[in-house]
Amino acid sequence: METDQDKTPQSLSAKFESFAYLTVRDRLPTILTKVIDTIHRNKNSFFEEHGEEGVSAEKRAISFLSKLRNELQTDKPVLPLTDEAEDAAAWNEYIHRQQDLMENKQPVSWFKSPWLYVECYMYRRIQEALWLPPICDFDVFKEAKTQSFFESQQATISLCTYLRDLLTGVDKLTENQLFDAFLKFLQVSLWGNKCDLSISAGQDNSQKSSPIDSLADLQRFILVDDSDKVWSALMALQGSVGTEKSGARVDIVLDNSGFELVTDLVLADFLISVGQAKEVRFHGKCFPWFVSDVTKKDFHWTISQTMASNHRQMSACGVQWKRFLKEGVWSYHDHQFWTLPNEFCDMRADAADLYSTLQASDLILFKGDLNYRKLTGDRDWEHTVPFGRALRGFHPAPLCSLRTLKANVQVGLQSDQGEKLTSQEPDWMTVGKYGIVQFFCPP
Ligand SMILES: [Mg+2]
Repeated sequence: METDQDKTPQSLSAKFESFAYLTVRDRLPTILTKVIDTIHRNKNSFFEEHGEEGVSAEKRAISFLSKLRNELQTDKPVLPLTDEAEDAAAWNEYIHRQQDLMENKQPVSWFKSPWLYVECYMYRRIQEALWLPPICDFDVFKEAKTQSFFESQQATISLCTYLRDLLTGVDKLTENQLFDAFLKFLQVSLWGNKCDLSISAGQDNSQKSSPIDSLADLQRFILVDDSDKVWSALMALQGSVGTEKSGARVDIVLDNSGFELVTDLVLADFLISVGQAKEVRFHGKCFPWFVSDVTKKDFHWTISQTMASNHRQMSACGVQWKRFLKEGVWSYHDHQFWTLPNEFCDMRADAADLYSTLQASDLILFKGDLNYRKLTGDRDWEHTVPFGRALRGFHPAPLCSLRTLKANVQVGLQSDQGEKLTSQEPDWMTVGKYGIVQFFCPP
């Protein structure tokens, strides 16, 4: 008898001629080379801060990473982690799971194992290179993230101004106007996801134009648009004031720092300020990840920088965000599961505490491509497979993916939609031009 499990398609992998292959062959080594350069360029500051010990840590990290790059490029077996970080055991156990999936007992390796796994593994190995003091707190991607934030200043200012102006007259807004504003902020957060430094291998990828003005032109690139369902889910929790049901708890599983984080904060500010949500919980990474992903430091740095802006409206946003955090209306959380290679359908078994935390949410927004890959297991699904089925039992709460497409997995399309796109634009899944607002509500 064929079970559901048998019908789960295979994982995307560099072993097939594909975008995964090109990523492992070209993009990942380029990122490692940039990491090595960054560490090397910081040699003097390591010396100034830590003396000779800093210099030997720099040398050690560079030699470790050069070796890693060579292992990758020559398709060597994936090695167990040797550091003593909390998550090392989980990673090393995961190698065995991957080994069990290999044909003919071949070793788990860069070009033969699932792309999702080896790409996550590379970022974890970068962390291993920096594990030992005194440079263990060094964020190799910090410069790129900082640059992306500053280069998007104009866009940030126009977004913050738009929000504060809107909130000034919020009492007079009709429900339709409120819905319209919600769509705008949701879409800005969606397109903010274009600003991803890992996909451009660290090249400038900031937002320079006014994001609100571009929305109408971008509308036709949204392949799945469940915005109205997201709105309904939030509205259903809007009881009359003073009743039990007075606004939702929204969880945002973040992707990138820089401009994208600003768009997420603005969306969260809107949701709280108009009473659509009573609490927003942000989820970020425990260590630097996929070049531009948000860590705790990035999160707080971004809010402080926004607050310190010379621009009145931008600074007002920063002040408000700080207040939300202080009052506990907003909170930041990290969990090692977000930086493990696991598909999200593993979460209930492998990170039961996180799963049950998410079960208390009314709406979880998953930002970006990597979250989507993990939601769907990064598998070779038919485009018409329903999103709910690709989640394979992962539904802690109503959830929505806000993602611009940068990897070749996409489910929940209309029949023919994928074929049409492929015939018009063969790279539609990886050019970062299309987006989705894809919602799923557990039965
Ligand atoms: Mg990212």
